[in-house]
Amino acid sequence: MLTNRQQQCLQGIGIQVWSERQAVPGDRSASEPVAEAGSDPVSRTEADVIEGSTTVIPVSPVAETSIPESFASWDSIIDAIHTCDACELAQNCTQKVPGVGDRHADLLIIGEGPGHEEDIRGEPFVGRSGQLLDRMLAAIGISREQVYITNIVKCRPPNNRDPKPHEAQQCRAYLEAQIEQLAPRVILSVGRVSAHNLLNTSQPVGKLIKQMHKLPGTEIPVKVTYHPAYLLRNPSAKAIAWQDLKLLYQMLQ
Ligand code: URA
Repeated sequence: MLTNRQQQCLQGIGIQVWSERQAVPGDRSASEPVAEAGSDPVSRTEADVIEGSTTVIPVSPVAETSIPESFASWDSIIDAIHTCDACELAQNCTQKVPGVGDRHADLLIIGEGPGHEEDIRGEPFVGRSGQLLDRMLAAIGISREQVYITNIVKCRPPNNRDPKPHEAQQCRAYLEAQIEQLAPRVILSVGRVSAHNLLNTSQPVGKLIKQMHKLPGTEIPVKVTYHPAYLLRNPSAKAIAWQDLKLLYQMLQ
């Protein structure tokens, strides 16, 4: 049963509150709206949506030499990100956006990369997409402060383009270090760029969201969901995202 607060949150993000009969986590077939299963135009801000791209970003765990191979602590990861100049993204961003939240969180949320707002404020998911993400989390009773939020790349790609393969690869060492330090119970992978990088796949998000995954080389469950920027443009997909959130909620119990 949803609490009144959760129902209000759901209405706030534009999701119709379903009856229990319809609310079956993981089973989208009956109540799933018509959504674009094969495309997930994702962006870092709602204004920056990239339509229909299916760029595949290969993953390599090997970082280049200017990035330390191991990190002793959270602070050492964050410090290294702040001083990183391993790729050209560092030259063009206003500031690094390493991540934010509880360093002992059960839930790790991984987006694509900082957008304009994030680049200015130094914090991930603070623009319109971030506000929707916050409301989505609130709908399952989770606050932003209770999770850790980061991105595939820690610097804003110019003009909000997708991170290039070598940029994602360079930043991978930081992400892996963050995952190691946090040891999350669950990862929520937000949008196409995040899912493709984390899972080393090029399958459409519409397909990836239909099953649970494990972070390659680990036992950490990965739930893929639509990027909030996509949901802002495609409100009918919010019903699917709500299914994802309920599943996430169950996994975190
Ligand atoms: N979109 C992302 O993927 N990450 C952010 O930090 C903000 C928007």
